[in-house]
Amino acid sequence: MANTGSVRVRLAPSPTGTLHIGTARTAVFNWLFAQRHGGQFLLRIEDTDRERSKPEFTANILEGLQWLGLAWDGEPVVQSERIGAHRAAIGQLLASGHAYRCYASEAELQEMRERQAAGNKPPRYDNRHRDLTPDQEQAYIAEGRQATVRFRIDDAASIGWTDLVRGPMRWAGADLGGDMVIARRAPAATIGDPLYNLVVVVDDAAMAISHVIRGEDHIANTAKQILLYEALGLAMPVFAHTPLILNKEGKKLSKRDGVTSVADFRAQGYSAAALANYMTLLGWSPPEGMGERFCLGEAAAMFDFDRVNKAGARFDWDKLNWLNGQVLHDLEPGQLLDQLQPLWAGEGWLDQAQDQEDQVWRESLCALIGPSLVTLRDGLDQARPFFRRPELSEAALVQLQTAGAQDALQALLALLVDGPLTLEQAQELLAKAVTAAGVKKGVLMKSLRAALLGSLQGPDLLSTWLLLQPSGEAAARIRRSL
Ligand code: GLU
Repeated sequence: MANTGSVRVRLAPSPTGTLHIGTARTAVFNWLFAQRHGGQFLLRIEDTDRERSKPEFTANILEGLQWLGLAWDGEPVVQSERIGAHRAAIGQLLASGHAYRCYASEAELQEMRERQAAGNKPPRYDNRHRDLTPDQEQAYIAEGRQATVRFRIDDAASIGWTDLVRGPMRWAGADLGGDMVIARRAPAATIGDPLYNLVVVVDDAAMAISHVIRGEDHIANTAKQILLYEALGLAMPVFAHTPLILNKEGKKLSKRDGVTSVADFRAQGYSAAALANYMTLLGWSPPEGMGERFCLGEAAAMFDFDRVNKAGARFDWDKLNWLNGQVLHDLEPGQLLDQLQPLWAGEGWLDQAQDQEDQVWRESLCALIGPSLVTLRDGLDQARPFFRRPELSEAALVQLQTAGAQDALQALLALLVDGPLTLEQAQELLAKAVTAAGVKKGVLMKSLRAALLGSLQGPDLLSTWLLLQPSGEAAARIRRSL
């Protein structure tokens, strides 16, 4: 462990898309590790791909992290603002002989790759410009060729590190694709745009990052970056590579699997608490006795990499749904209302001015539907018939035509007066109507449900009635069904 100071970790998202679930899970593990060790969780926006980076993606990423409760320390570092330091490092590598200019044209490289493909060889740069003489170099410059900067990778190198997740790792220099481009093509005497592996090393060192925690798709980059740390004489962080998130078929989770961005999960009605809880379980096994349901703070108290699995983590919708349901069921009606109200308002269901009575009514509605919610979206669907009169379903129409149904509802309507009812009063009215109409209680109950909700399914019938009663809506719906 070269770096022994306090724990400093970072998330380094590229703002070329919205906050992806994989990046968010990496953020969770970084955050948990920082919390566990009383360290710092830093953010670096890797916006060096100027064409694809967009400020709205940066905004989306920051908002998503905030929503999940993953607060970061200090101001985010903006990678593009550090290009001077990146160029200086490339200059240092050129001066020390660790890097050189490669004048091979795109066409020449293309031809090389085609030849490799034809011979069934993996693509790799053949290091053809590694040892140009000054004369050869001058000749290329005279031709007007531009040059990339390449970092020498010794084929014989054996690169090792102890990964916090995967244990001892070893990588052969020969498997890294030949000398690596660290700066894009530019006029001969200049240094073009610095590239990913170089800038990450320079920035991680400048930010004094102690532990680099990122997805396992970066393992080959880590091998290359270790060579750069050595060549630049920089202190090496500890590395931890977290397992990939897989879909049901065991393939890397992608857009085709439906939602993959945090904003999508949010739009589908998942709560931040449940999603953060679930992402922690994507690769981390909580210690015995902890259970699977916890908040980030509780996980942080127990988090360590010994319990992070090497194998890919399968995305399990059932578990996420279960967790989300648990989180929603545990909310007080008032808390649930806080989360549902914006959705209801979005549908135009809420009056601007709301009084105490509205508040009580809405909380009662939350108390009624809350226990059966899986997502907040369900809280939209299930609340809808309380705000808008529903159509009568096929099954409801059939029910309303069964023997005794109409008589029973007529009898109830005749007894109904305007204004709120208590549960006892409602039960009394039902009993009287059943007697008056001479039907079974079940007939009236089923028909009343059909009349009030337009469906034979739904929440508790009496509570439903009591909620629809004060506004006169219960009577109106019964009248409609006659
Ligand atoms: N910008 C890189 C990414 O989004 C960062 C990888 C790293 O953590 O070094 O994948």
